Amino acid sequence: PPTRSFSSFLRLYKSQSPSSSKKKPTCPTHMATTTTRRQKKVVVIMGPTGSGKSKLSIDLVTRFFPNSEIMNSDKIQVYRGLDITTNKMSMHDRRGVPHHFLGEFDPDTEFSPFDFRSIGSKTIAQIISRRKTPMIVGGSNSFIYSLLAKRFNPNSDVFDESNSVNSVCTELRYNCCFLWVDVSLPVLNQYLDKRVDEMLEEGMFEELADYFVSEGFISDDPADSVSLTGLKKAIGVPEFEKYFKRKGGDSERDDDVESRRVLYEEAVKAIKDNTRLLAKRQLGKILRLRDAGWDLHKIDATEAFREAMMTSKTGKRTVEIWEKQVVEPSMKIVKRFLME
Ligand code: ATP
Repeated sequence: PPTRSFSSFLRLYKSQSPSSSKKKPTCPTHMATTTTRRQKKVVVIMGPTGSGKSKLSIDLVTRFFPNSEIMNSDKIQVYRGLDITTNKMSMHDRRGVPHHFLGEFDPDTEFSPFDFRSIGSKTIAQIISRRKTPMIVGGSNSFIYSLLAKRFNPNSDVFDESNSVNSVCTELRYNCCFLWVDVSLPVLNQYLDKRVDEMLEEGMFEELADYFVSEGFISDDPADSVSLTGLKKAIGVPEFEKYFKRKGGDSERDDDVESRRVLYEEAVKAIKDNTRLLAKRQLGKILRLRDAGWDLHKIDATEAFREAMMTSKTGKRTVEIWEKQVVEPSMKIVKRFLME
């Protein structure tokens, strides 16, 4: 075979080596989210309501990445109040992990995606200045998008299906690692119904009763309807409006008791329906981001949920499946990302 001189080999090698190429490296697909290594690292846990994002974040931070602070990205949990109704993590469940944007804002004013973008970016900078990793956790994709997209126009809804998917910005302000906790919708729906019943057992109805009284909603004035700003948009408030505004007060008359019972059942059904709808819409938004090229790592928690529904949330087998199928793969993805 013809022998090649070392210098000609070197020339050939250099011309083929990606590091010697003048061209910028290209993304694996033409649409993938673009970030650079110099950008600050941020971990994002997204997924529909009820999919276990908060639990996963606490598992990851307490056991593997203690150098992290959590930033809530649920647009309703940012407000003070209605902790049971909005399903905020209790102090006990937070296990000492610092949380931002959880119950911090005035419930009577609107906290917009634009506000989240401007205040959130300052919070990210502060967390990083403490040499920690921000972990964004929550189901509001409009909040996640506004915070992370390089270009954000508050007047255009990139999730509106009538706009082209190309309207989604794929350049990001940070170097992001996205974990998308997915649960098949039929299984998630079953779980969400059960969760509403559990929230009612924990005191959701009493919490809403106090809220309606404190907001002065109990009135005979038909013009005095709930206006949907801030916390008033929380699932549970509009659904219970009719019940708390009914005539008849706490009368013990049989027909009043019966009409109250009917209104109560209707409110609970509406909460379940709207929670399912919310999960479906949130999933649609996640798929849109993925289709636009956002590089999302899907973590399938369906089996863990199925087992929890059949046995119990804390049962040995449920915990084993959650560990193997959710915590372990998530941990590996985040570890690789942080070490890159
Ligand atoms: P949109 O683009 O419609 O604003 P989004 O992705 O920004 O949606 P979502 O998290 O999907 O935000 O919330 C949409 C609606 O779902 C809220 O306005 C509220 O009615 C309800 N919702 C969301 N999170 C909660 C919660 N934690 N508790 C009660 N209701 C909630």
